[in-house]
Amino acid sequence: MPLENGEGHSIRLASQLGSIDKCRLGPIIYWAEVMCCLAICASLSKPPPSMPIMINQGLLFMLRNLLILGGTTEASSLAYLISKTEFNATISYAGRVGRVRQQPIQKRIGGFGGVDGLSSYIISEGITHLVDATHPFATQISHNAILACQKTGIPLVALTRPKWEKQEGDKWCLVPDIDAASAALDQSPKRVMLAIGRMQLARFYKNLQHFYLLRLVDEPKATPLFPNHVIEISRGPFTTRKDKLLLTKHRINLIVAKNAGGNATYSKVEAARQLGIEIIMIDRPKIPDRRTFYSPEAVVHWLSFPG
Ligand code: NAP
Repeated sequence: MPLENGEGHSIRLASQLGSIDKCRLGPIIYWAEVMCCLAICASLSKPPPSMPIMINQGLLFMLRNLLILGGTTEASSLAYLISKTEFNATISYAGRVGRVRQQPIQKRIGGFGGVDGLSSYIISEGITHLVDATHPFATQISHNAILACQKTGIPLVALTRPKWEKQEGDKWCLVPDIDAASAALDQSPKRVMLAIGRMQLARFYKNLQHFYLLRLVDEPKATPLFPNHVIEISRGPFTTRKDKLLLTKHRINLIVAKNAGGNATYSKVEAARQLGIEIIMIDRPKIPDRRTFYSPEAVVHWLSFPG
């Protein structure tokens, strides 16, 4: 994965930095940040108990209270990495799935209540930095994060994965969004793997002629209205070998997938290539430009050496 700051940077976590490195951190920049953070603390009715103020050899070293918008493997990797540093961090989940992963940092679950709710949370919890590590198709929360950071004046970065690129042997029909994918299914009956999660299944109810294989993280609360379907409950990461077995078992001859990128669900793309199965590939929604990183290490580097 490319680091935004270029290949070949050696990144050491804050906890691994020696005292000489700490003295190289640019005291003027840090002092300005420290004063800013102290101002945020002073504006709170009670300072967050976990906001770290670390004094090392006379230098106020780090003041970071991070909010990670999660729900992805990237967010979990970042949470793990952050837990090895002196930074304070909270990971946030929408609460869509029944079983949220165990995390080595504190977590919160549920919506914030739009831009205003997220802004209030940032202020009341003394959040100093926001990392949007949500899924590339989670556009609402990403837009909210941009606006809430503008409102509260804290820095925002995105942690994401590059999209998948078509490889030789792939049979992709590219469509711009979910509705275009649904329209592309207006054809004679097929055996379709609908790999789009649970939330937007109803958008495919106009094409009930197909058999559908639905791979979901949790058992759905209401039975989907497809007359001919099978639900496979499982959570990634998946493997190409098992996905080939799954596709073969259900005699799948068409897949509908979001261009999520990353490794966790790429196995179905490889399996489809090897089995010669067509994929209706849904392009990513547009999100306004943000500073974007492609590895958790790059985010930690940015937190350690801002600029
Ligand atoms: P969305 O449409 O962008 O967000 C809808 C609302 O859900 C947001 O306005 C927010 O509610 C709440 N929300 C979303 N992510 C949140 C988070 N991490 N923490 C707290 N609240 C959050 O989101 P979505 O597409 O439904 O996805 C929901 C979650 O599932 C995301 O966290 C995403 O990373 C994960 N996910 C999504 C997909 C996908 O295909 N969309 C796939 C895998 C995982 P309020 O306005 O009340 O704050």
